[in-house]
Amino acid sequence: MKADVVIIGAGPGGIYAAYEFANKRQDLKVVVFEAGNTLEKRRCPIDGNKIKSCIKCKTCGIMNGFGGAGAFSDGKYNITNDFGGTLYEHIGKEKAIELMKYVDGINVTHGGQNTKMYSTAGSSLKKICMQNKLQLLEASVRHLGTDINYVVLENLYAELKDKIDFRFNTPVTRLETISETEGTGNACDTSDISSAGYRYRAYYGEDEYVDCRYVIASVGRSGSSWMERICRELDIPTLSNRVDIGVRVELPAVIFSHLTDELYESKILYRTEKFEDRVRTFCMNPNGSVVNENTNGIVTVNGHSFEDPSKHTENTNFALLVSKHFSEPFKDSNGYGESIARLSNMLGGGVIVQRFGDLARGRRSNKTRIAEGTVRPTLDATPGDLSLVLPKRILDGIIEMIYALDKIAPGTANDDTLLYGVEVKFYNMEVELDENLETKYHGLYCIGDGSGVTHSLSHASASGVFVAGRVMDEIAEN
Ligand SMILES: Cc1cc2nc3c(=O)[nH]c(=O)nc-3n(C[C@H](O)[C@H](O)[C@H](O)COP(=O)(O)OP(=O)(O)OC[C@H]3O[C@@H](n4cnc5c(N)ncnc54)[C@H](O)[C@@H]3O)c2cc1C
Repeated sequence: MKADVVIIGAGPGGIYAAYEFANKRQDLKVVVFEAGNTLEKRRCPIDGNKIKSCIKCKTCGIMNGFGGAGAFSDGKYNITNDFGGTLYEHIGKEKAIELMKYVDGINVTHGGQNTKMYSTAGSSLKKICMQNKLQLLEASVRHLGTDINYVVLENLYAELKDKIDFRFNTPVTRLETISETEGTGNACDTSDISSAGYRYRAYYGEDEYVDCRYVIASVGRSGSSWMERICRELDIPTLSNRVDIGVRVELPAVIFSHLTDELYESKILYRTEKFEDRVRTFCMNPNGSVVNENTNGIVTVNGHSFEDPSKHTENTNFALLVSKHFSEPFKDSNGYGESIARLSNMLGGGVIVQRFGDLARGRRSNKTRIAEGTVRPTLDATPGDLSLVLPKRILDGIIEMIYALDKIAPGTANDDTLLYGVEVKFYNMEVELDENLETKYHGLYCIGDGSGVTHSLSHASASGVFVAGRVMDEIAEN
């Protein structure tokens, strides 16, 4: 097979790149390979009854398939350079924001028209945070919600499916550079592109392959080991990554309502007094639910919420995370995070839940204490003791931040506040990329979370739009 552009991965990065080609250069042959299923076939077999834990499906219904890791997420599209990735370091702050807004416009016209955009601009909460040693990060956020996020993806697929060649359940296994003369004649006759570039051969299935001029690798977090292998094989330099470790906090929604009503999600930073570590809130879900997340068989915790009020719970949840970055002699930050998550799985058989009051008193939670508490857990986790799992320094930082948050949202440090652990955010190693998100190989681009540059829906999507634009510009110039 021959193609002009091969996109690897149909998460937000790959989808928005494909969207650009489909809308601006329908004459190009664009093939999207996706390891997982179509959107409607994505299912996690865990039902809590017959199947209680991960049975290691060939591809994970939650992480892989059309929509990528974000398909069943809360669909919070944060428009900001303050968090969610470092796209701006490559393409500039203005361009990054412009593209995130552009993506927002697409979401709005594809099902998100009745959703709300929240913003920190002009908020009096900034001052209140500052007065209490907390820093509120700047952002606008469109909350699609798990339900509308799905609708947007359905609509995007319906629009793209006849213009783009999607290959589902088809992982790209190998990527090779080949000489200009091999595999000549790209589909739209761009074979005369003169830049001394490479051609690429992407293998899939049983030694089948596609030859192309441009490759956009958008393999996300789940494709991290694949990306590492490709970088090793093609000798593309990489930088070590960080890992975020912490807990998910669940409390009555009313305690945080003055923040969530105005901002929906507030990203708040705290510098601990004891160690001067930075602890931050992450992924806030007003009236949401705490859920299990499965990363390569390790069960960690996450949260989401629906836009539809009939699906609201009485609780709000958010993560409190501390970043760890190892470089010398131990480099494997993700391995460190995985080991902590494994320990919690070993002790709790999955996620552990503990009342804040029990943690502060140095005792484990049990079923009776949780049942007697005023906060109804939205996740069926094992009552236990998080101090046996989390390193002291991380736990001390989290406890300090809970008391700091209690000053701006009284009740946060109540005994009955629930802490679920562990929450771990793994990040990909960063691929060395230039200002066009291009590797040292001409025509080989790396976008989204798989590049290590982005960690969010909006940044990943914007990186897809950006690179599609670069490729189309180059084709037009030649
Ligand atoms: C539960 C959950 C909730 C989240 N909530 C939010 C949120 O509210 N807001 C936010 O900003 N972010 C959120 N995120 C993060 C967000 O989903 C990611 O940042 C985003 O999906 C990254 O997009 P991506 O396209 O780079 O990668 P992904 O979405 O991971 O997509 C990569 C795709 O590539 C495919 N793939 C991998 N390897 C190959 C291969 N070799 N061949 C073919 N295909 C391959 C995978 O199957 C996958 O479908 C959440 C994540 C999770 C897991």
